[in-house]
Amino acid sequence: MAKKIVIIGGGVAGLSAGIYASVNGFDAEIIEMHSITGGQCTAWDRKGYRFDYCLHWLVGTRNGTFNDIWRETDVINNNVEIIDHEVHTKIISEDGKEFIIYTDLNKWEHYLINFAPEDERKIKKMCSDMRRSSFLQPFSDPPGLRKFGQTITSMFGMMPIMTLFMKYGRKNCDDYFRKLGFKNDSLKYFLNSIFGSMDFSALAFIMMFAWFNQKNAGYLIGGSLPLAQRMTKRYIDLGGKLRTRSKVSEIVVENNKAQGVILSDGTEINADYVISAADGYSTIFKMLGGKYLNKKISNAYKNWKLFNPIVQVSFGIAKIIDSKVPSESWLMKDQVIGRTKTINGYTIMNYCFDSTMAPEGKSVIVIRFESPWELWNDIDPMEYKNEKEQIGKESKVILEKHYPGISAFIEVCDVATPVTDVNYYRCLERVI
Ligand SMILES: Cc1cc2nc3c(=O)[nH]c(=O)nc-3n(C[C@H](O)[C@H](O)[C@H](O)COP(=O)(O)OP(=O)(O)OC[C@H]3O[C@@H](n4cnc5c(N)ncnc54)[C@H](O)[C@@H]3O)c2cc1C
Repeated sequence: MAKKIVIIGGGVAGLSAGIYASVNGFDAEIIEMHSITGGQCTAWDRKGYRFDYCLHWLVGTRNGTFNDIWRETDVINNNVEIIDHEVHTKIISEDGKEFIIYTDLNKWEHYLINFAPEDERKIKKMCSDMRRSSFLQPFSDPPGLRKFGQTITSMFGMMPIMTLFMKYGRKNCDDYFRKLGFKNDSLKYFLNSIFGSMDFSALAFIMMFAWFNQKNAGYLIGGSLPLAQRMTKRYIDLGGKLRTRSKVSEIVVENNKAQGVILSDGTEINADYVISAADGYSTIFKMLGGKYLNKKISNAYKNWKLFNPIVQVSFGIAKIIDSKVPSESWLMKDQVIGRTKTINGYTIMNYCFDSTMAPEGKSVIVIRFESPWELWNDIDPMEYKNEKEQIGKESKVILEKHYPGISAFIEVCDVATPVTDVNYYRCLERVI
């Protein structure tokens, strides 16, 4: 008899767990509270348009350990088209000055030196950090399964970036840019506005550019939903079981060992092992009743700063709108959209690079901005409805400013808020 593993959550993590459990001969069952799998890696269809919520780039689209995992889980296969954007983002300041982030490091370095010649030495240092970080190769096996020889070989290969880890492992971009000591005010302004303002890890920033430069963090045509569907199919084809619209309310623990789960309708499912791929908070504080806490975990949940949630306004437009860049960030402090005063501005994403997102001859454009959770917590349903309408109206005005005449072609305007996010997880259907 195969040993039974219950996996809580059918997002990317739960699906991966399910696939590897099935490949290794376990009797796997994923319990997902939503009607579909994918979790945050999702999209929704409106009048023939698809509005994607997640995937813009994926580390490991070309090679390496992540690529092996994507191929084993069918995230990537030979039929999946991958594109690497030449420009990551164009940033525009309030006074109309432009700053471009190229994905090719040589090109970006050259651009940056032209942009801020007085910072040539520091720019070269930053780009050299980025190049060095391309030596990072995640271990292919988890701790416990790694062979000594493999660990030593990997560590040896990663020597050039060890100093980076030691230097910047705990620093954010703000610290990193300050340490580099750029003099050019515009350069400081643009880099800080995008990466410095949100406590973004310095190492993540450095490594992100190494991956882009290696063309190893591309975009998968089709986006998030087909990705989740491919993983789900792989899991089911391997014999995995999937129970949707079922919420786990408790993990049954006996003698400090998980023995199964209880669903919100009272159904009890026994298992030899339980893997929670749901969010940490629900797992630790709700399903396990807060019984397995230590100081580190308590401190993290009490004191760690959260990212601001986002509002996403997606437009279906009955016209082809081209763009040379996938994403433009407009730095506008205090631009009012509904009750939100933008913290950093807004981003406009034009999906013209992915023809699967809109019917032929049509386009999808998305506006995104951060909106503090305090504005959404406890909002009453009537106010919420009005707020969404207001955001829709004001976002149309913004879009019209950037693409004069576009309003006449807008067929769909879909507003997803931080409340949508919460409800998506709370309800069995996307109702808001
Ligand atoms: C706006 C946005 C953009 C992003 N962009 C990118 C990107 O470009 N590239 C990238 O690599 N990553 C990106 N990410 C991150 C990526 O989406 C997530 O890291 C990933 O989807 C997380 O997967 P997960 O399975 O760990 O969690 P989740 O997707 O949160 O899945 C958890 C699942 O558990 C289910 N669940 C929770 N509680 C229960 C319960 N009690 N019972 C049953 N089921 C339960 C939920 O319904 C959900 O399906 C983005 C995320 C967001 C929000």
